[in-house]
Formats: sequence, structure tokens, C-alpha cells
Amino acid sequence: MEISKKPWPILSVCGFKTRIDTNPDFQRPAVWSLGQKQLLVDTILRGYDIPKLYWRKVSKSPEKYEVVDGQQRLRTIFEFHSGDFNLAKDADDIDGVVVAKMHYADLPEDLRLQFDNYPLDVIVLTDTSEDEVREMFLRLQNGTSLKAQEKRNAMPGKMRSFIKDLSKHPFFTRVGFADSRFTYDLVAAQMTAIELNGGPCHVRNSNLNAMYEAQMDFDAAGTKARKIRRVLEYLAQVFTEKTPELERYSVISLYALVSQCLETYVMQGKQDALRNWFLQFEANRRTQDDMPADKADPELLAYKERTSHSTDAQDSIQWRHEFLLRKFFEAVPDIEQKDNQRLFSHEQRLAIFRRDGCICQVRLKCQGVKCEWDAWQADHKTPWSQGGKTTVENGQVACPECNAAKGGNP
Ligand SMILES: [Zn+2]
Repeated sequence: MEISKKPWPILSVCGFKTRIDTNPDFQRPAVWSLGQKQLLVDTILRGYDIPKLYWRKVSKSPEKYEVVDGQQRLRTIFEFHSGDFNLAKDADDIDGVVVAKMHYADLPEDLRLQFDNYPLDVIVLTDTSEDEVREMFLRLQNGTSLKAQEKRNAMPGKMRSFIKDLSKHPFFTRVGFADSRFTYDLVAAQMTAIELNGGPCHVRNSNLNAMYEAQMDFDAAGTKARKIRRVLEYLAQVFTEKTPELERYSVISLYALVSQCLETYVMQGKQDALRNWFLQFEANRRTQDDMPADKADPELLAYKERTSHSTDAQDSIQWRHEFLLRKFFEAVPDIEQKDNQRLFSHEQRLAIFRRDGCICQVRLKCQGVKCEWDAWQADHKTPWSQGGKTTVENGQVACPECNAAKGGNP
């Protein structure tokens, strides 16, 4: 990554605004209020300092940029310059000149020149990867959250050493994000929190801080610690090489998925199936970005929504977890429960129900009736008593009447 800094007069920047993407996909679509916009213009007209802008150069000839940080500021400048809004009606005079309610074109020449020549501090990033840009964006937006892990690393106790050690696991060499500011420690801590909780939970900084404090005497050789290493070991078998699709939020989700599946299912030999499903899922959901909203898959849109903000909140992780589990079981339907249990698990039932479109497949007493979620049975196609497996593949939706008609042979 190459970084250069230069002051750029507003007028020149306005001259090539069509080459600047002020809304790349890692930015949030928040919109400034009119008051915020007016305040920025007022600041510029008074010659006060405004924060630096960060642009990523995405094309050399013609030169094109996307805005990493400063999107709202730049849009506001463009809008004021093209006369889209005026200054506030109660704006104070500037150097004795009345500016209240003025549009750009109404300003006296001196003030227009002040605006046109105002130097924007632009930091241009060249040869930057998507990951580096995201990383920089995160830091600029929320530097404190990244500093938090640095602080935790300075905390005493056995949890700290356990997490430090975990962050050196080979699995982390396969993920798609960099280890800047101890990101691997952060993710290792989040995995540990999920494991200690027995499933998805809040994994924000405050929650992780509390965990470090409560677990000062954490047993790095205990059952939980061994389970965490077992999950990472499995993930390292699934992802044997660098995988750019492994973003921070998907790593957390995959951890929760594998952790739960290792408890209940025979996962030996399913490593390739898990990788292939995950890569296919990622490829599929990325195609949704180019589709008009009414053509896109609403579930994948909801998933994307939950990967774009509040990704460390319990409800977001829980929702993604249940969705991914169902998708995984739909895609790999031959996963068996350990000891071939007779009862279908929740995630198997979900996958069967969605795959069969909620419709009774048995059709002994009905013509294929639509079932409600709380009134259907998961039926073994090949009966369990005859060696049929409790898998999504061998399961089907049965309405209560058909299930009763099959009689004691579910
Ligand atoms: Zn039926």
C-alpha cells in the first residue's frame, strides 16, 4: 500500500467529481441532516480546519477513486457547489458579510473564492487491497474498538495467555483479513466467548472485557479449552489454504456452526463438503449485489444486512447461525447424528421443512397438505427401525394424519 497526501482545492475536486465514488459498499448509507451540511460549509467559509479525506485510487488512467472516509463531507461540498442547498437562515455573518440563506451562487466573490480555493487534505491510497481498505475504514470509523483488544492484551490472567496462544493457530493463516491491531486475538476471544456461552452471544468489547476479568483462572487444559482447539483444528482441515471469503463475521459464524455440529453429528469426512458449501454460498450471495432489489433472494438480503452492521451483537450472530445451519444441512443432507439418534434435531427439521416447502410428502391420508411449523412430524423415509438414518436426506415432512397412518413406524 502506498500513501500520499496532498492539499486539493475544492474547485479542482469538483471538476472531476464523476471519477469519485462517494458510496463504495463498505460505507454506511447514513445521510447527513441539512444542519450538519450547513455547518460544514460554514466551517469552510470561515477557513477553519476540517478532517482529512481518505481516497482509494481504483484506476490509474483515467484516474478514479473511491472514498474510504469522508463520504458525507465530500457529498456535501459537491451539493453546495451545485446549488442544492443554501446556508441556514440564522447563519452568522462572515467577516461582516451577510450569508444567511445564501446559495453558492449568491455568495460575494471573495467568499466564493474562499470556498473554491479551500484546500481539502486528501490522503490517497494506491495499490490497496479490499481488506486493507476495510481495515482502514474500520479504524477511522471506530478506532476505539480496535484499541480495546490492545488493552485486553495488557490485562493479567490466564484468559489472556490462552487467547494469545489461540490467535497463533494455523487456521488464522487461512483467513481473508489481516492481523492488524490484534484482530486475530479479537476473533479468538470472540470464539472463546461463544464456546463458554454454549452458542451465540454478544461478543462486543464490553462483553469480552467482562470475560477476561471473570476468567482470570481459566484452565487452558480444561474441557472448554480443548473443545475450542478441536473446532479450530477442524476449521483448519476445512480451509487448508488462504480463503479470501473468510471475513471476520463469517469466521465467527463458521466457528459457531462447527462447534455445534461437532457435539451432535458425525463430522469426520465432511470437511470438503463444508468448504464447498461455504464457497458456493458466498459466491451465490455475492451475485445478489448486482441484482435489482425485487429480483434478489430476500433471505440473502437479510443475511447481508446482518453482516454489514452490529455483527458482534447476539441477535445478529444468532440469526446468521440458524440461517447458515439450515443452508448447510440443506446442501449436505447426508450428515448423520452421532449414534444414529431417532429424533431429528432442530436444524435438521428446519432444513427438511424448508426443502419440502412445508408440504406433506407422505400422502397416505392427504394430497400433500401444507403444514404449519408447530404441527408436522419429521418422518424417516426408510424407517429408523429398519436401519434408516436420521439425516435430512432420509427425512420428510409428514402431516399429523399421514404420520398417524404410517403408525408407529416414523
Ligand atoms: Zn399428509
